[in-house]
Amino acid sequence: MYDYLIAGSGLFGAVIAHEAKKQGKSVIVIEKRNHIGGNIYTENINGIHVHTYGAHIFHTNIKRAWEYVNQFAEFNRFTNSPIADFNGEIYSLPFSMYTFNKMWGVKTPEEARERIEAQRKESGITNPSNLEEQAISLVGRDIYERLIKGYTEKQWGRPCSELPAFIIKRLPVRFTYDNNYFNALYQGIPIDGYTSMIEKLLEGCDVRLNCDYLEHRNELESLAEKIIFTGQIDAYFDYELGTLEYRTLRFETEIMNDTNNFQGNAVVNYTSKDVPYMRSIEHKHFYPGLETDSTVLTREYSSAWKAGDEPYYPVNDDRNTKLYEAYRQLALKRCPDVLFGGRLGEYKYYDMDQVVIRALEVSNQIS
Ligand code: FAD
Ligand code: UDP
Repeated sequence: MYDYLIAGSGLFGAVIAHEAKKQGKSVIVIEKRNHIGGNIYTENINGIHVHTYGAHIFHTNIKRAWEYVNQFAEFNRFTNSPIADFNGEIYSLPFSMYTFNKMWGVKTPEEARERIEAQRKESGITNPSNLEEQAISLVGRDIYERLIKGYTEKQWGRPCSELPAFIIKRLPVRFTYDNNYFNALYQGIPIDGYTSMIEKLLEGCDVRLNCDYLEHRNELESLAEKIIFTGQIDAYFDYELGTLEYRTLRFETEIMNDTNNFQGNAVVNYTSKDVPYMRSIEHKHFYPGLETDSTVLTREYSSAWKAGDEPYYPVNDDRNTKLYEAYRQLALKRCPDVLFGGRLGEYKYYDMDQVVIRALEVSNQIS
């Protein structure tokens, strides 16, 4: 018998596991993949920590989250500054004076604001109610057409006019020459990779890999008093109220032995619909100054999720938000001793710092 059984060894499960161990509890972690770490897993290829499930940059304004992860990893000073490739033309991201200068030749913030305001007025938008209107209001139609529309529609698989405005508000719009993608006080990547950080969090816990909790539920639920489930909440209930919508990703990784610097930047977003992938990541550039003989590139494709695929992004629209709430109520009624948490368990578009804070809150509640 264990005090806690945690299904899922991602960041959420690992923080809960660590906090429970700290309080002297016994913990078993069940993971359906063949490795720990969830989507922040990194693997070493030719001396490069490869982000197997897409670019992961830890960024936060929450000192507690930053101090927490720094107990388990030393972070480098990587600052994310992706570039956008629109039909071969390169623009700086996020939207800053560099972007405005390249797009319109303007040099001052005042000139940039005038351009955007003129384009907003021309579109007649006063009260933006969806992503398209929000984007045009924030940065004007030219940037919307070249840097937002194609990328967003590839990512989410539906027109920008049918997407919630909040998605685009994740990106800063700056009237300064500053291409830091995040408005974050703290930012970096673990020098030894994320997997090593998760290993440290899980120290002292029993871990069972290649084991789907839902397939062995009867045998496993009797192993512990408290269950924490970090997989899909709809899958836990065998989709009995319907299926929540997710986006899945396909990662195509190429090891290049004939060059050690292919694209000159960690992240390049392909913002035209004509390019089938969303972005390409050159992993070595997450570690500034790293010298290698070869390089590793990953191209990321997005599509609708269907049973059997990995669910990466929850699609937080009205229909799914209501359905998730129905599952949450069902969980409270039918299995009050099981706690659902993390990006899939709570069906939320959480960044890593939010996951850490949420896991610490939950640990406090259940201790
Ligand atoms: P996960 O990492 O998904 O872990 C859940 C684990 O549970 C998985 O290992 C899964 O295999 C396992 N599991 C599921 N069901 C079962 C089951 N039935 N039985 C056993 N095991 C099960 N955040 C940032 O802060 N910065 C970024 O730059 C960033 N980039 C991202 C890029 C991409 C492409 C994606 C998809 C996300 C990104 N995020 C980023 C978000 C970040 O990945 C999440 O916040 C974080 O990894 C969520 O941790 P989690 O433990 O909730 O979920
Ligand atoms: N986005 C865009 N063009 C880009 C990068 C981002 O239009 O080159 C939009 C897109 O709608 C995306 C949102 O900005 O969903 C938020 O971007 P972020 O990088 O935060 O997305 P993540 O990959 O973290 O989900």
